[in-house]
Amino acid sequence: MGVRGRLAPSPTGYLHIGNAWAFLIAWLAVRAEGGSLVLRMEDIDPDRSRREFELGIVEDLKWLGLDWDEGPDSGGAFGPYRQSDRLGYYGQVLDEFIRSGKVYPCYCTRKELRSMASAPHLGEHVPVYPGTCRNLDAAGQRHREASGRAPAQRMRCGEKPRTFVDAVYGRQRYVPAEWGGDFPVRRSDGVYAYQFAVVLDDAAMQVNQVVRGRDILHCTPRQLVIYEAIGAEPPAYIHVPLVLDAEGERLAKRHGHFELRRLREAGVAPQALVGFLGWKAGLLETCVPCPPDLLAARFRKENLPHEDIRLDHDILSLLAGISEQGSLA
Ligand code: GLU
Ligand code: ZN
Repeated sequence: MGVRGRLAPSPTGYLHIGNAWAFLIAWLAVRAEGGSLVLRMEDIDPDRSRREFELGIVEDLKWLGLDWDEGPDSGGAFGPYRQSDRLGYYGQVLDEFIRSGKVYPCYCTRKELRSMASAPHLGEHVPVYPGTCRNLDAAGQRHREASGRAPAQRMRCGEKPRTFVDAVYGRQRYVPAEWGGDFPVRRSDGVYAYQFAVVLDDAAMQVNQVVRGRDILHCTPRQLVIYEAIGAEPPAYIHVPLVLDAEGERLAKRHGHFELRRLREAGVAPQALVGFLGWKAGLLETCVPCPPDLLAARFRKENLPHEDIRLDHDILSLLAGISEQGSLA
């Protein structure tokens, strides 16, 4: 089988330059190998996901010049491609985990359980689970059920460190305390965790190459625990540096002016942004407009930068300025 990659946006906002960077690299890493690409909407967080963002993301990706072979719009052999349509499948796997003791019910009330449906990004503190419910016997579980609280389901991780080799950041090794120990795969309100859904989907969709921001490098060992539990081979990992604003902050929702739709309104041409990002990826000598397929011919994952990309204050005028220039090829 050839390379199978994916674009896995969460429709909780519109795409910004940082997302464009990670998705462009994900696209290039597949297209450079003549592989196939899946678009998967990661809308399992019912509080934050919105259909209008999904539509906006698809529009922005197309504007950028990226395409995919399978997805919620085009279908494919491994669908459905929207996580909200895959809940039945997550439930089946979870039932199997419950039966085999790979997970256990956790009755702890923790604010942390609120946020676990989204990928925990860098700098968000991961508290280590103290193991409170790990060895509850049936009587102890019944006692807690009786208080009326529905449990979360927590993955049993054991003591073993997990290692993997990242194409950019090299060999990684994490002991359980570093990823927080036993982690929830389903919240007490029934919402599945990002970790769980992303691994089940990547495995079911036969994704063998994962490209994403280095802010979720530290989530990977938890995902390896799940791969082991389902008996599937983990993908090759390519974590890419982050895009930061001029102050060194990772781009986030409040950076509305870096959204692709706002760039578009400001007269930035998609190939100007692609050229800028390709230049930052070391694929172009200078910052000039360029279509994505021209970059694919030059792409080498070995040459990806390790350093985060800092946007200068004048980034918008730079992009608008080069938008006037003719594109390469
Ligand atoms: N939907 C996840 C996010 O936006 C994707 C993470 C991943 O690529 O595994 O953070
Ligand atoms: Zn607990």
